[in-house]
Amino acid sequence: MFIDKVQITVKAGRGGDGVVSFRREKCVASGGPDGGDGGRGGHVVVEVDKRLTTLRDIQYKRTYAAADGAKGAGRKFTGANGADFVVRVPRGTVVREADTGLVIQDMSLCDSFVLAKGGRGGWGNKHFATPTRQAPRFAKAGLPGQEAGIVLELKMLADVGLVGFPNVGKSTLLSVVSAARPKIANYHFTTLTPHLGVVQVGLERSFVVADIPGLIGGAADGQGLGHDFLRHVDRCRALIHVIDVSGSEGRDPIEDYHAIMKELAAFDPELAKRPQLVAANKSDLLPDGVPEAFTKAMEALGHKVFVISAATRNGVDALVNATAALLESLPPIAVYESETQLKQVELGTPDDTVVEQQEDTWLLSGKWLSHLVANINFSDYESRMYFDRTLHKVGLYERLEALGVQEGDTISIYDIEFIYEK
Ligand code: GDP
Ligand code: MG
Repeated sequence: MFIDKVQITVKAGRGGDGVVSFRREKCVASGGPDGGDGGRGGHVVVEVDKRLTTLRDIQYKRTYAAADGAKGAGRKFTGANGADFVVRVPRGTVVREADTGLVIQDMSLCDSFVLAKGGRGGWGNKHFATPTRQAPRFAKAGLPGQEAGIVLELKMLADVGLVGFPNVGKSTLLSVVSAARPKIANYHFTTLTPHLGVVQVGLERSFVVADIPGLIGGAADGQGLGHDFLRHVDRCRALIHVIDVSGSEGRDPIEDYHAIMKELAAFDPELAKRPQLVAANKSDLLPDGVPEAFTKAMEALGHKVFVISAATRNGVDALVNATAALLESLPPIAVYESETQLKQVELGTPDDTVVEQQEDTWLLSGKWLSHLVANINFSDYESRMYFDRTLHKVGLYERLEALGVQEGDTISIYDIEFIYEK
């Protein structure tokens, strides 16, 4: 099945923790701190794989997680970085933030992109030695990696999109102008996946044509087949509107033209205004030539009619040359500007700390505080002093004073409790 839109969760690795360690050497009573840093968490990377044409392989797995960084070690050894996780996508995939729908990256602009960054490794105790603190007994925990819901959407990179009813000969046309071999059959909906073909014009020029599955009434409302495929013509610089001018299926070619235009406009009014070439196909079935009414109607709309037969190749070269000439006057294939990037992992600020009073006990909580607590080794005096100083510095004690904390009250922070003293 053709899959061109998937929602996934990406989760970069957590940074490894820094460690507490001291140098030990013969004849040296107590060596300095030599605890190394944790390694960085692995990134989640999006990479273009030219062999892929759908997002099918991605739909089976919902969460893409990179490895965590390794812990540091003694002798100032830094832990290994976590391995990156690579999500392989076809060229032209647009990466969006699921919550907002904003574009993070258009993978037609690059081959590889770091989507979710791994968390930094925590510092080992070697960083915390100062003249007055020669034996720091604490190290820092690694930071979490970025995590987000992502929507991947394939928007093929084609210069020209073939649009029209099913069975009008779009796939046949693509197969005679390019080396692409789409399925051709005389029944509706044969084309279930868009096909790309490169059309060579002379030695120098070429352009890419996309064969879009046939549109039918109500496609733009999501009723019929084709709705999902319309977004593939989004990027196209021009359209070739293929019409079965022989009316071999009993429809009127002029009505066909308007029905398809209505579908395009309903999906996106811009799409209906895209430069367009009208290809009157299956002309070989009309011994008396294309009806004048059709040619007149198209000309009244400002279209020159290219009378062709994909089956006999009649008129196809003229259509290809006119397409190449038209493309030369048009801007390049549309790309999507980045509108956002994944948020930095939120560690909060001291000001977010929530204070609750239960009689003579004060309960403190918050993201910033929990991260601070996770970094402190409370069995160590030095670390406790550092914790105490930090609470002072950020004004938390001042805040408690203002709220009426009394000497002898209990301060409770996650799994730590201590008695408040001035
Ligand atoms: P699509 O659904 O628009 O891709 O149409 P196909 O390319 O699959 O063609 C549908 C049927 O029309 C097939 O049986 C083709 O052989 C036939 N066909 C396509 N182009 C022509 C043509 O120019 N003349 C004739 N007589 N038949 C054609
Ligand atoms: Mg087809």
